[in-house]
Amino acid sequence: MPSAPKHDYYETLGVPRNASEDDLRKAYRKLARKHHPDLNPGDTKAEERFKNVQEAYEVLNDSKKRSMYDQVGYYSDNAAPQPGSRGGGSQHPNMDFGGFDFSDMFSKAQAESRRSGGSTSGGTSGTGAFKDIFGQFFRGGAGGDGASDKAPEKGTDLEYAVNISFWQAIRGTQTKIDVTRYEQCVNCDGTGGNEAGSAACPQCSGTGTVTQMAGNMKFNLTCPRCSGKGRLKNSCPYCHGDGRIAHREVVDIRIPAGAQNGSRLRVPGKGNAGTRGAMPGDLYITTNVEQHPLFHREGDDIHLKVPVTVSEAGLGAKIEVPTMDGRTILKIPAGTQNNQKFRLRERGVHNSRKDTRGDLIVQANLVMPDTREERTRELLKQLADCYPEDPRSQLWEASDGAT
Ligand SMILES: [Zn+2]
Ligand SMILES: [Zn+2]
Repeated sequence: MPSAPKHDYYETLGVPRNASEDDLRKAYRKLARKHHPDLNPGDTKAEERFKNVQEAYEVLNDSKKRSMYDQVGYYSDNAAPQPGSRGGGSQHPNMDFGGFDFSDMFSKAQAESRRSGGSTSGGTSGTGAFKDIFGQFFRGGAGGDGASDKAPEKGTDLEYAVNISFWQAIRGTQTKIDVTRYEQCVNCDGTGGNEAGSAACPQCSGTGTVTQMAGNMKFNLTCPRCSGKGRLKNSCPYCHGDGRIAHREVVDIRIPAGAQNGSRLRVPGKGNAGTRGAMPGDLYITTNVEQHPLFHREGDDIHLKVPVTVSEAGLGAKIEVPTMDGRTILKIPAGTQNNQKFRLRERGVHNSRKDTRGDLIVQANLVMPDTREERTRELLKQLADCYPEDPRSQLWEASDGAT
């Protein structure tokens, strides 16, 4: 069993985990020059650092070794895949995060929001809160000796939540979540081992059947350990025959424009890998949308309350209002009432499913001038003359009998 290196290769080279080959080469050259024994005669620490830098670069510069290091935290030639066993392509099967299929997101989101009343309970903070993942890992971890030929099992689904702002939900956004998931072992391609050099099953001595007594009766049963094959695979040293390894990875998530609070996105195949090459589960992402202090959303419409002065409402005015496409001018007519609503067509949320846009609904919020000012009070007294003697006369007519 290979052991983990004493130092982190990325830290040794001083590069981030997503460093490009170019970054790695530059970092390596710089550090190799700095710590080269010829330039640091007699400095044993420098020599050790030089060796560490070399070791780190050797692994990270090889895409196959690097993906194995990323996956299991070490790389050793002893357990390297046999030449040819990977069919030439050494591309890490899970490194391509692009092209997630969100095509069914809206139908799911709608169904989901109908079921849950359109909101989630929240309860998750930061990115990628996860559910019961360690339970799944410990439950699934196949026996360490690998001497078992259990049938492959489909991978389980994973549930994560992601917090996004009001505008990110409306405009769509890209975000990253830290996902811990089982992925297919790169050493054995998820097979858990190979038939080469397989050993006779110790439980049935290679016969494939075991005998069980019940009273005086003797039964021949299929051997549970080798499933009747009589032989056990050579178990992969990295995944202990499970065909998969728990691994933390940062997954790029594209949230399409128009996502709602509680929308659920499905990322097919990004759940846990199945055991022994079985189908992976899916990754589900629930969006928690933060509330906005001024704007609020109802379906595809956005609502906004805008302060309007008594003069503007009375005389009519062109007022500037914020929209998601920038400021725009709204004409309010003379005699605008408090709470009167104005609809700015197609300034709301883009609905990619219907290919339509909702509206921005602006509600006038009449505000009084500063009545501590003497002049204001004078003008308001003059304004009083503009009202009928009893401004509530309609009330008395309508509420006839209530007095
Ligand atoms: Zn393996
Ligand atoms: Zn057996």
